[in-house]
Amino acid sequence: MRRGRLFVVSGPSGAGKGTLIAELLRRYPRTWLSVSATTRRPRPGEREGVEYFFMDEEEFARKADAGGFLEWAEVHGRRYGTPRHRVMEKMDEGCDVILEIDVQGAEQVRERMPDAVTVFVEPPSLEELERRLRERGTESEEELRERLANARLESREAAKFDYVVVNDELPRAVDELCAIYERESPLCGGG
Ligand code: 5GP
Repeated sequence: MRRGRLFVVSGPSGAGKGTLIAELLRRYPRTWLSVSATTRRPRPGEREGVEYFFMDEEEFARKADAGGFLEWAEVHGRRYGTPRHRVMEKMDEGCDVILEIDVQGAEQVRERMPDAVTVFVEPPSLEELERRLRERGTESEEELRERLANARLESREAAKFDYVVVNDELPRAVDELCAIYERESPLCGGG
């Protein structure tokens, strides 16, 4: 059996990575989205082991020290990491694996797994990003400011990615992401 491939999807918070990935997973049910660990608190409606594995600082540090994360980073003052074991297992089973992680994490994956395909999802503009974040309404004003400042910094990293998808119109951006996926996935005969 061919081993699956690792796909990293990064980009500013609010650029629409989650929606794009959800659509990709709907089209390719054998593709697996990794569930990250985080030290941030669950938002209303988030479930343990579905959106994230929620951990306190101590548990996270213990796992990080034991080499349990493929990558981890501090984002907006909280830690986020990709549990290594399940990712490797799924790839060995022949599934492609998607990581939805920040640009620092993408950098670590690029170094550790050079065969990974990296995609940067960009909002059409910072104004549009602000509008989307406000509409989502899950952050306080201060958190929103921090996310926007971070988005400005993150966008400078886009050139390091294999692909950049501008999420201007959702159906078009989904098609573009899926075309990249088909080209690069061993499951689809690419890669
Ligand atoms: P949120 O708190 O909005 O769920 O996520 C905040 C940021 O953390 C997003 O940019 C998201 O991509 C990133 N993130 C989520 N999981 C991971 C992870 O496992 N590793 C890294 N490096 N970033 C992550």
